[in-house]
Amino acid sequence: MRKTNLGFLVAGLCCVPVLIALIVMTGAPGGSVSQAAEAKFGIVVHGGAGTLKRTSLTPEKEAAYRDKLSEAIRVGQKILRDGGSSLDAVEAAVRILEDSPLFNAGKGAVFTSEGRNELDASIMDGLTLKAGAVASVTRVRNPISLARAVMEKSENVLLVGAGAEVFAKAQAIPLVDPKYFFTQERWDELQKDRERDKKPKSEASPAPNEKHGTVGAVALDKQGNLAAATSTGGRTNKAFGRVGDSPIIGAGTYANNQTCAVSATGHGEYFIRLAVCYDISALIAYRGMSLKEAANAVIKGKLTKLGGTGGIVAIDKDANIAMPFNTSGMYRGYAIGPNPQVVFKIFED
Ligand code: ASP
Repeated sequence: MRKTNLGFLVAGLCCVPVLIALIVMTGAPGGSVSQAAEAKFGIVVHGGAGTLKRTSLTPEKEAAYRDKLSEAIRVGQKILRDGGSSLDAVEAAVRILEDSPLFNAGKGAVFTSEGRNELDASIMDGLTLKAGAVASVTRVRNPISLARAVMEKSENVLLVGAGAEVFAKAQAIPLVDPKYFFTQERWDELQKDRERDKKPKSEASPAPNEKHGTVGAVALDKQGNLAAATSTGGRTNKAFGRVGDSPIIGAGTYANNQTCAVSATGHGEYFIRLAVCYDISALIAYRGMSLKEAANAVIKGKLTKLGGTGGIVAIDKDANIAMPFNTSGMYRGYAIGPNPQVVFKIFED
């Protein structure tokens, strides 16, 4: 009898290490182990960089920008929190900003010198390095969704003008009357710009309230995939057919799971010449820089030296973020992880 009890005791004691190992592997009751291993995720959004004056921004206007940008961030964050893809998150966030007249993308886009709205957008998937873009579209309500369709449902990367709109129709992407994009504020900006153009260069005052309002989003999802998206009406009074950096992969948008996802805003010609978004990724890949170092080297260093203005938002594979700009302000915000607090900023810290 005694011998049997001892046998059970020895057998029981032998099981203890096995039980401990099982708890460690499967997670302790209450989930503390699995929480510690929770995958990182996050989203960063911008609403354009430019000459923004604290004095000319009324509290109401500031609140309107904060609310819309925060709404876009929250919608993207929820997709990521629920296990959705970074592509879905950036597309959803950009669509919200395209639908708002506050930003220079979709409704509220700036006018060309001919008084039209010509829209550009692009999106990139950091997992596959697939990308899609559209330029100079005039009737597509949400150019970012058309860019995504180009990426996923065609063999192309960039479609422009009438050809892009034929493709949109075939994909049942909603088209609108070009009047849909009209806002009085953007129309008035064009008139002011035209007036300035008439004056000799020496007399012309610098561009009034030269805010750009392009929108963009970058995200990291729980699967470790990065994505970037950018959408714009371009620059006020731009030449008929002019295309900026926003639909150019590597210039206005870039994403690579090995490095980072970047979306840009600013004077597009400079961003194209410097391949700004790709350059940030390349500095991380080839020089081993951190995201912040790479983003600062390109925006505060190279872009500024060349005379270009603007900024970028970026996130890397570890959910580090960077948001440098060399203008007086850039509408921007982010949410990292499940934290319900959205951070919103306009001016330098
Ligand atoms: N980058 C855009 C363009 O040049 C404009 C902007 O971001 O404000 O078309």
